[in-house]
Amino acid sequence: MAEERFEFRSETKELLQMMAHSLYSSKDVFLRELVSNASDALDRRRFESLTDPAKLPEGEKLEIRISADKKARTLTIEDNGDGMTRDDMIKNLGTIAHSGTKAFVEQLKAAENADQANSLIGQFGVGFYSAFIVADEVEVTSKRAGQDKAYVFKSTGDGAYTIDDAEKEGVGTRIVLKLRAADEDDQLSDFTEDYVIKNTIKKYSDFVQYPVMVECEHQHHREGVEEAEGHDASTCNDPTHMVTEKVWEQANSMKAIWLKNPSEVKDEEYNEFYKHITYDWTDPLFRLNVKAEGTVEYRGLLFIPERPPYDMNYRDAKYGLRLHAQHVLIMEQCAELLPDYLRFVKGVIDSSDLNLNLSREILQKDRSISTIKKHITKKVLELLQNAADNDPEKFDKFWEAYSRVIKEGAASDYDNKDRLLKLMRFISTYTLAEDEKAEKSDDKKNKKSMTTFAQYINRMPPDQKDIYVIAGESLEVVKNSPHLEAFIQKGYEVLYLVDPYDEILFSQIPEVEGKKLVFIGRGEVELGNEEEKKANREKLETQQKDYGDLLNKLQSCLASDVESVRLSSRLTSSPACLVGLDGDVSPHLQRIIAKMGNTNMPVSKRVLEVNPNHPLLQKLQAKFAANADDALIPKYAQLLFAQSLLAEGSPLPDPVEYTKLVTELMVDSL
Ligand code: ADP
Repeated sequence: MAEERFEFRSETKELLQMMAHSLYSSKDVFLRELVSNASDALDRRRFESLTDPAKLPEGEKLEIRISADKKARTLTIEDNGDGMTRDDMIKNLGTIAHSGTKAFVEQLKAAENADQANSLIGQFGVGFYSAFIVADEVEVTSKRAGQDKAYVFKSTGDGAYTIDDAEKEGVGTRIVLKLRAADEDDQLSDFTEDYVIKNTIKKYSDFVQYPVMVECEHQHHREGVEEAEGHDASTCNDPTHMVTEKVWEQANSMKAIWLKNPSEVKDEEYNEFYKHITYDWTDPLFRLNVKAEGTVEYRGLLFIPERPPYDMNYRDAKYGLRLHAQHVLIMEQCAELLPDYLRFVKGVIDSSDLNLNLSREILQKDRSISTIKKHITKKVLELLQNAADNDPEKFDKFWEAYSRVIKEGAASDYDNKDRLLKLMRFISTYTLAEDEKAEKSDDKKNKKSMTTFAQYINRMPPDQKDIYVIAGESLEVVKNSPHLEAFIQKGYEVLYLVDPYDEILFSQIPEVEGKKLVFIGRGEVELGNEEEKKANREKLETQQKDYGDLLNKLQSCLASDVESVRLSSRLTSSPACLVGLDGDVSPHLQRIIAKMGNTNMPVSKRVLEVNPNHPLLQKLQAKFAANADDALIPKYAQLLFAQSLLAEGSPLPDPVEYTKLVTELMVDSL
């Protein structure tokens, strides 16, 4: 087939543009990306050869070779990995394949200005395309294992590429970069210098599991001259006496970093390894060495990214740990090693108890795998608890990024539910009040403080039996809710559940540390000790007699809006509020569910609770006593209902009607 020309897709074009003009702080990362790709290709070839030994003839050594040509200003990276066919080239190099790159482009499009865009570039690995950071022309020649034909992909990164037939001896891929001029203010290191190449490999790719061989120039004194001319070769500086020889030097130590003793590994080395396996460009938030001997033997290295993986909440996102059996990589993403909710954990597990031919089907039933999973789950949760206890600042960062998945875990992992509940943090009436106090003394506007369940329970006054929570749309709305009044007056702390997930989760968790969890926006409320409750009940009963007729009247006025109207024992300063029935979800959650398209969700009517101690009720009662058919009473009923909706942050069903009503009543009272 003759040479064929293709256009890059528009998103790829945009990306290439950015590469060429990028403000990468460290341009040398392109080498890490290309070596990483080569190493992956070698992994695949080795793996394929496990089932088909013909794919890797005996004696062929898997390795990566890097060489430069100073005159031509080219850099060549060659591997004998699995190689690519013509179609592979179109699919993998012609379109954006790397999942991280896709996310990058998406975010780039969303960036609002050049500054934002540039800071984004620094945060993502972009795989193969990073070649264009340093090259103005890239040529990829490749031959797929098990095939005769080779192909060459060429591009100058300006919108198009070509693919043509090519000649290539062995299986694998050779990438030739035509390097841009190393201009000074660009601070681009000269990658035609072998020491630059070696240092970069050492820096980023030391742990790569295959030898990375770099072609180096060695100069030495011509032999024989010494005797002939009688001078000392070690001090001679006559250039005509020197010969240059090319030799291959291995630039990486290849040691599996997870097998090393942690005391021998520097933080930077761990971080580079993390970046190598995740494509993240930021150091991880947490690192954990895991190890077990006994029933199942394994070692591993786990990481928690500082920023959650962009696809953490996508339903079909792939995740998992790299799984090695007897040091050989057998799976890049083994999801079976982690519970779903820990899908953000990255890393590698290496076990000598696993078979090299482990298939997905066997994996799911493998006892060793489930033992490892259980063990590392516990280790990760211990790490987090430890951070929560000893490094609150770091833990706060974690909580901000991952609270949602931890809650998901509490709902799904019964064995670890209590451990997960211990990690949870909430803003509460108490923490808000404390923050306000603190702000008065020093006006630093720092983040809101939070409380754990344990701290909450510790603060409970002796007569408080249950844990009180209130669910709603946002802190701003919930913190002014009339539902809180009686609790605040009584000195009972209330936890704010303002993540919609909270309400779903805690509707399934009725108890925490032996204490009942009570949603204060639902059901009837009775506070205080037995005596107080009794006194309250008696008082309500007498008031009920006084207000009974008015309540009936209000109820008939609001028949289509509320389930019933009753006297409240939870209000102190507000005239009325709406209360759900036991087991109802909050109106906020109802709206979310409705938005998600579930229109079958019945919208439950709630109870309007009115405050018998409020002057408004007393005046209304007087009006009603004077004339039970007063035309204003149904209007006031409507108004009370509307006010209760507004107070809890719910939208009014008919704002125009509401405004008219208020105007009318204003006119009447002026
Ligand atoms: P990623 O490596 O994250 O998938 P890249 O853009 O770096 O994204 O590479 C895209 C694809 O091109 C790879 O997934 C792989 O299939 C193919 N590829 C890149 N480099 C090589 C190589 N040296 N040998 C074989 N295939 C390669």
